[in-house]
Amino acid sequence: MPESIKKLSYFEGKIVPESEANINIKTHALQYGTTVFGGIRGYYDSSSDNLYVFRILDHYKRLVNSTKIMQLQFTKTPEELRDITLDLLKQSGYRRNVYLRPFIYTSALQLSPRFHDVPTELAIYVLELDDYLDTKRGLTTMVSSWRRFDDTVIPTLSKVSGGYVNSALAKSEAVQNGYDEAIFLDGRGFVSEGSAENIFLVRDGKIITPSISSSLLEGITRRSVLQLAKDSGYEIIERDITRSELYIADEIFFSGTGVQIAWVSEVDKRKIGNGEMGPITKKLQSTFFDLVVGKNQNYKHWLTPVY
Ligand code: PMP
Repeated sequence: MPESIKKLSYFEGKIVPESEANINIKTHALQYGTTVFGGIRGYYDSSSDNLYVFRILDHYKRLVNSTKIMQLQFTKTPEELRDITLDLLKQSGYRRNVYLRPFIYTSALQLSPRFHDVPTELAIYVLELDDYLDTKRGLTTMVSSWRRFDDTVIPTLSKVSGGYVNSALAKSEAVQNGYDEAIFLDGRGFVSEGSAENIFLVRDGKIITPSISSSLLEGITRRSVLQLAKDSGYEIIERDITRSELYIADEIFFSGTGVQIAWVSEVDKRKIGNGEMGPITKKLQSTFFDLVVGKNQNYKHWLTPVY
């Protein structure tokens, strides 16, 4: 089918032209970072002429959990959120890779930072998106001078917009110093994650990643990588990782909805491995890129077709 795109968003209970999805400057969430949000990808496969949304219910479960952690007034279920999203994508007509940004924000035109006793709204917009960071070239990284906030500061398992001040500081520091991405240490000084992606190391054929005790967001892509690695027979270890382990890793890669699976060639000017994409990263990345467009029957249950 030829593609004919309508730019639509979900806003204040209905699907509307994107140009009409605007909020008042007095909106509570805009002042206090009290929005919880998600980021979901849809992958277009030309051979089956379909758009596949990746792990939509898992993303929406995390979003609903974010509202629960933050005590936001919100009653929609992950299944209802899925149905709204599929309707939005169908009506929009995309036949290309997209990124969905659903969010629930405190919508009152009121002062006072709080989560209780404030009305909320759900909104969803759609962007066309291929790579967010280059997945073929190795990424250069630095350990950030900013520590990742911990769960006693802002709940780390909630994807709350206020927490992204931390990510923005680290990302800008890294890019302004000539690097592609930042790596956070947690409050204790152990490796946590990137500014918007989880991190994995390979040492002696074993895959190592920090556990959720290292203040990270529990990524849906992280969960997928762990499953793929397990299914491929790799040993996986979730544990604390020290900074110096980064320097001597054989391979390092990031996972995330935006970044997908991207390899790291350098940390703090130390070349990782032999400076090329390592075999385990390569295998996981190619499996991932095949499965998101429906080319691997074993993981078709992670995909929801739009058409
Ligand atoms: N950590 C942070 C801080 C993020 O913003 C993201 C992106 N949502 C991730 C990790 C990766 O999570 P996911 O795989 O669910 O996109």
